Amino acid sequence: MRHLLSDNTTSINTTESNSRWRNNSVHQSEPHQSEPHQSDHEAVLRAASRSSSAMTATVLVGLMVGVSAGGRADDASETYRVGTFSADVTIPLNHRCMGVLPTKSLSIADPLYAKGFVLLGAGDPIVYVAVDWCEIRNAAYDQWRDALANAAETPRERVLVSSIHQHDAPVTDRGAARLLETVGLRGELYDETFHERTVARVARALRESLSQTQPVTHLGLGQAKVKEVASNRRVVRKGGVASYARGSNGGGDAFYASAPEGEIDPFLKTISFWNGDEPVLALSVYATHPMSYYGRGEVSSDFVGLARQQRQEEVPGLFQIYASGCSGDVTAGKYNDGSPEARLRLIGRMLQGLRDAWENTRRVPLTEISFRNTQLDLDYSPDPHLTLESLRERMENDRLRVEDRILAAMGLSSRLRVASGQTIDFPCIDFGAAQIVLFPGESFVGYQLLAQRMRPDSSVVSIGYGECWPGYIPTAAAFGDNFANSWLWTAPGAEDRIRAALERVLLPGK
Ligand SMILES: [Zn+2]
Repeated sequence: MRHLLSDNTTSINTTESNSRWRNNSVHQSEPHQSEPHQSDHEAVLRAASRSSSAMTATVLVGLMVGVSAGGRADDASETYRVGTFSADVTIPLNHRCMGVLPTKSLSIADPLYAKGFVLLGAGDPIVYVAVDWCEIRNAAYDQWRDALANAAETPRERVLVSSIHQHDAPVTDRGAARLLETVGLRGELYDETFHERTVARVARALRESLSQTQPVTHLGLGQAKVKEVASNRRVVRKGGVASYARGSNGGGDAFYASAPEGEIDPFLKTISFWNGDEPVLALSVYATHPMSYYGRGEVSSDFVGLARQQRQEEVPGLFQIYASGCSGDVTAGKYNDGSPEARLRLIGRMLQGLRDAWENTRRVPLTEISFRNTQLDLDYSPDPHLTLESLRERMENDRLRVEDRILAAMGLSSRLRVASGQTIDFPCIDFGAAQIVLFPGESFVGYQLLAQRMRPDSSVVSIGYGECWPGYIPTAAAFGDNFANSWLWTAPGAEDRIRAALERVLLPGK
């Protein structure tokens, strides 16, 4: 283990060799319709209710020469290989954002991307992709995973998809879209044709990356504290009453700006894949909602995506992926007043976190990769407002605002999904010295802190916003605070189920 980049030679070599890799990351894009220019569910939904009056895998076989499935080649440097891919996933203009925002996309401030990797040599290929979208749910989530699984010729369970959760970005849910179609609201949640083309574009990028893979010999592990970005929604008011009302732009309010940060995970973690001394890709994860401002129809990857872009420009050949950690209850609220200036400050702080985690990176030989998946069975909310009848009545009620009817259709789609017995995949990629775990929905930060505590010997990289139907997934403590929200579809008891699932994937054999 050595401290990388403390030595200038390594650093220079890295930069020089990067130009070679630049061509190795496959990118699929399409032109944009508009020139760039440069508050959360609770606030939006509150405002909403106020305003409501009533391949064929041809290349793969070739790539696997020298690698037996699940085993190792004699030459350790050829055991594992990785391909990286990127595709444009920007929504068209006049497209719904966050599922329920009244203001549809009016301009493209900066493009949205799906960025991912495919890992070969650990049995069937393992795919991960992070998408600059708000949420991907239910049958739409299946669509993404099936298309990428098909492209990589691997089972669906080995395809990990997460949203980064920007809000001027889409929510997709095929079941909800079909339900809305039955009540005359076709295309109101999202454009299904755009969605299918986009998924196909990402799958194409993945497939093409399979012919441009590189060996992976080492794993890089780095982390750094990010300063003055994250704060918990939870604040304690006079009299000791807990409230989760500090939204992502809460810093405009003196009370929210001065209240303590509360429970956060201060560490941004960067896990990187190396070919000898040369880094191939860096996946960085931090637990915060990614919004500085939204709801104005200005499509953007927001401060986290813009920090990712700046970091990519700083180190052009090192492929950068960013993902949001478990951050249902974490936003930039304490430090963000929703102004454009605040967005710039947040970009700068995230960029510094990315640089620092890279500076702190130590490299270890990569000698094992295992994959484990378990089923997470979350109950649907018992809220009387979310019964089948209640949801259906609201979805069908044309006196209600379209946004309220969409929300009901999303709830109904999830309710039907749970009733059908479909559980949530809860996957873990285990690199020995580090594990990547993918959580569903808006899992609270307490869950990733719990995951790290279970494995104090290694670096657990928790990613949130996988299957997103549950919406918020509070911890037992937050349910105990009577956490309530219109974006909450899962029932108390989630923590016991998640803890058990974590034990199965992080502590196998115990
Ligand atoms: Zn959220």
